[in-house]
Amino acid sequence: MTIGAVIEKLREGGGVVMLDANGVVRFKGNATVMTPEIRAALERRADLVRQVLEEERAATLANTTARSPGPCDRCGRIVWFGQGAERLVSGELVCGDCLAPWDVEAGSVPIVDPEGEGYETGLL
Ligand SMILES: [Zn+2]
Repeated sequence: MTIGAVIEKLREGGGVVMLDANGVVRFKGNATVMTPEIRAALERRADLVRQVLEEERAATLANTTARSPGPCDRCGRIVWFGQGAERLVSGELVCGDCLAPWDVEAGSVPIVDPEGEGYETGLL
């Protein structure tokens, strides 16, 4: 099984393998999937994991004309303008799927494309 396939399996089970804003590999999500053993095994291969995640991100960005402010700080998926993502008071970027009612209550604000181009693609 390749590292990419392992990451895919973990995600299916609710695990989160992502690069944070500083390019550091992070493991989060479902604790029954992201066991200490799994984390340790992935950390031993952190360079390979990072490479897979970077390739994945590049491929995602290359396959679209939509614009993104970056990855979600909770699940690591690419966030797109116009899809319900919000910026938390803490400064974290959270995708529409991860955004919780209490985040909104705490004062999160919808992200807006600074150039406004995301709204002219016809996709949003
Ligand atoms: Zn998310």
